[in-house]
Amino acid sequence: MRMLFARIWPLGVRLQLMFWYTAVFAVLIFFSDTILYTQLQTSLLANLDSSLSVQAQQISNGISTTNNGTITIQDTTGDLPEGGTSTVDQQGNHTDINFGSLVRILDVKGHLLRGTAASTTLLIPSKSITQPLHGTSWQGNVLTHDGQQVRLYSMALMDNGAPIAIVQVGESLAQLNTALHTVVLEFVIIAPFVLLLGALGSYWLASHAFVPIDRLTRTTQQIQAGDLHQRVPVPRTRDEVHRLAITLNEMIARLEEAFRRQRRFVADASHELRTPVAVIRSMTELALFEELTLQEYKQMLGNINIETERLGHLISDLLALARSDEGKTLLELEPVQFDKLVEGVAAYAEVLAIEHQIALHVQAVEPVVILGDEARLIQMLINLLDNAIIYTNAGGQVTISVEKKGTTACLTVRDTGIGIAPEHLPHLFERFYRVDPARVRTDGNSSGLGLSIVEWVVHAHKGSIKVESQVGQGSTFTVILPLAPTRAVETGSLTQEKSKAAGKEHSRH
Ligand code: ADP
Repeated sequence: MRMLFARIWPLGVRLQLMFWYTAVFAVLIFFSDTILYTQLQTSLLANLDSSLSVQAQQISNGISTTNNGTITIQDTTGDLPEGGTSTVDQQGNHTDINFGSLVRILDVKGHLLRGTAASTTLLIPSKSITQPLHGTSWQGNVLTHDGQQVRLYSMALMDNGAPIAIVQVGESLAQLNTALHTVVLEFVIIAPFVLLLGALGSYWLASHAFVPIDRLTRTTQQIQAGDLHQRVPVPRTRDEVHRLAITLNEMIARLEEAFRRQRRFVADASHELRTPVAVIRSMTELALFEELTLQEYKQMLGNINIETERLGHLISDLLALARSDEGKTLLELEPVQFDKLVEGVAAYAEVLAIEHQIALHVQAVEPVVILGDEARLIQMLINLLDNAIIYTNAGGQVTISVEKKGTTACLTVRDTGIGIAPEHLPHLFERFYRVDPARVRTDGNSSGLGLSIVEWVVHAHKGSIKVESQVGQGSTFTVILPLAPTRAVETGSLTQEKSKAAGKEHSRH
């Protein structure tokens, strides 16, 4: 019992729909029955009224006045009792309103001239006499002494435009009321059956409507994390289920792509990490098992130090990208004097440029303020300048410039280096992508992650990056970043998001 209760409570969609449909059915049935009942009552009463008016008309055909003003009544209908013109016949006729006719003929003063025995039991309202005298026939419900309802029709008989008598004809409403009560009883008996059928029907319909969704659920359940190449069947009908199936398939495709990238990232990362670890290990083994001179030990420790530094940078880069994938790295956005930042990083890169015999020029630097995370922007600038210097042969040139273009800041890093072949350009920002793995950087710091980080920083700042290059001629990286809104520059600081990351990963240098 408890399990059954738990199954239906909270109510499933099918049961909820069933209850709602049934409630709506109930309201509809109530209203339609009420309307039907009222209409039936009105039309039965209208029929009764018209037959009463015909009867009254027939009776009034037999009434006339003599020259001296005496009213003579001729019974043409057989409804009136035998006898005089001004008495109510009591003999032989019972006063039960359900038998025989209810007829009353009155003079204009309201005195009863003639009437049936049963009509004496009626409680006649004065309006039923005064209204016809004023020219309008009257009809309405009246009661008998013992509380029974009677429909009464009252009309004036006119002669030369003046009323000479009033004819009142009535009929018991018992039959009509019985008919109406029967109808109500039928409604009351039939309604629960209709509701029950409606409830069952709506439950069946709801179940039927959910069949495609059940099918989608089953297929989605079958799709395990490792089996993301499967897709749910898309029904041909262009309805909600069709849209749901398409949305699910798009979601699964995105998941599949994310899993694929994740797997590749992990595989590439472990591969990259393995190399420096292996190098360190072989060097430590050598140091442990070989007799070396102090000079050789020092050199070895120096090499280990370089490798660990490389490892450290690699781990920082990996961490930065992993966090960006998770969406955990929130930027500390504030107005940044971008031109000053570029000049600062260029001065810092100058050391590397001199080391590689490259001429580093800082050109066309316009004052621009952007809304950005200074640490990330420095990382981006260092990676771009670092690449430009490293992939340019000695004697070459690297030029960096910042310009204001409309509502954007345009950063250009141009070099006269080895250039990149067109087939590599589309993959340049992919993780671990190196144009020529054989040609590693002279500093041995190549990881293939530098440009991925640059791209991520640019996108995180709602900017864009493009590269143009010609083999043997050089490359130009252009970064477009939106300028800070004037309001932000005026207030001096507009920190929108705070970095949750404890550490800030910087450059490889
Ligand atoms: P890496 O750590 O290898 O420099 P990046 O992601 O920074 O990784 O760059 C990816 C590849 O793009 C590099 O291996 C290099 O082949 C190529 N590349 C990047 N910048 C330049 C450049 N300025 N000139 C020529 N090739 C470049």
